[in-house]
Amino acid sequence: MMNQRPILLEAVGLKKYFPIQRGFFRKTVGHVRAVDSVDLQIHAGETLGLVGESESGKTTVGRLILRALDLTEGTIRFRRDGQVVDITHIPRSELKWYRRDASIIFQDPFSSLDPRMTVLDIVGEPLRIHGLAEGDKLREQVRELLQLVGLRVQHMNRYPYAFSGGQRQRIGIARALALKPKLIVADEPVSALDVSIQAQVLNLMRSLQQQFGLAYLFISHDLAVVSYISDRVAVMYLGSLVETAPVDSLYATPRHPYTEALLSAIPKSDPDDTKTRIILPGDVPNPANPPSGCRFHPRCRYARMVCQTERPALREITPGHHVACHLAEELKLAGVAPPEGIRESPSGGK
Ligand code: SF4
Repeated sequence: MMNQRPILLEAVGLKKYFPIQRGFFRKTVGHVRAVDSVDLQIHAGETLGLVGESESGKTTVGRLILRALDLTEGTIRFRRDGQVVDITHIPRSELKWYRRDASIIFQDPFSSLDPRMTVLDIVGEPLRIHGLAEGDKLREQVRELLQLVGLRVQHMNRYPYAFSGGQRQRIGIARALALKPKLIVADEPVSALDVSIQAQVLNLMRSLQQQFGLAYLFISHDLAVVSYISDRVAVMYLGSLVETAPVDSLYATPRHPYTEALLSAIPKSDPDDTKTRIILPGDVPNPANPPSGCRFHPRCRYARMVCQTERPALREITPGHHVACHLAEELKLAGVAPPEGIRESPSGGK
């Protein structure tokens, strides 16, 4: 299925290698290939879910896209005022406009907010740094932002410790929204919250997306959460994408064995569903010394000889569905019904 919305951000061949240094003189003895040739596109107004186990490189992709980390290799293009701008080599000091267009929601609402700052200071700081508001105008804009995320404006002089986890994440969302971004990288934004609060925050994010045409790169290890909010999903394993597809297609008809295993681990809501969880053998290999050929082959129950020597390219096998597996056309993998989702807390406890 073709996405009709324009591409907002395109990343091509993203690589991030971190040097491994040893000895008194910190000699470089190798590299951790945290991100290794990732291509992705995010369309205006859509949510791209990025999933994978911890250490898969998904958080590093988010930081590269925000230009919070320097790339080892690759290209990032961003649509600005109808023009496609290559931001790969623009010095960070000249990317102030990009800090307005692309922002972040952090994972842990308990540690990401400065405990010494009031809500007014936290939410208003980006406006002040970018010279957009001061004094009464700043207070007015913070008041508006707090209303948008469902917080009481009379609490703007309180400190973060006075709020629950869900409320703190709303403060983080208000701050991320302050500069009217077009893209928000949300890095595990609900994983530190109670399940009953997760749906409230996800519903808020969806509502803000509809109001302001925001695009999200939604990074998570939780496939139930990802299915709830995403239009498309990209699956990452050991620094590379192994499958991308529209959300329904990915869950119902996965084409990569790693995706099949991840889906099998989603808790079942139907007690009659007897499908068993696929337990992957071994651990995630060391990204400093990845396996030859298909990086998933030591853990793949379908692997053949070719998988040990030839690295499969990510290729489109049906419209919009891309897979990096030699056997993608041949394997009949088990999907799941899209998870029912996460129920909102009846108490409305925010
Ligand atoms: Fe498994 Fe081979 Fe496909 Fe890799 S290429 S996922 S090892 S079947």
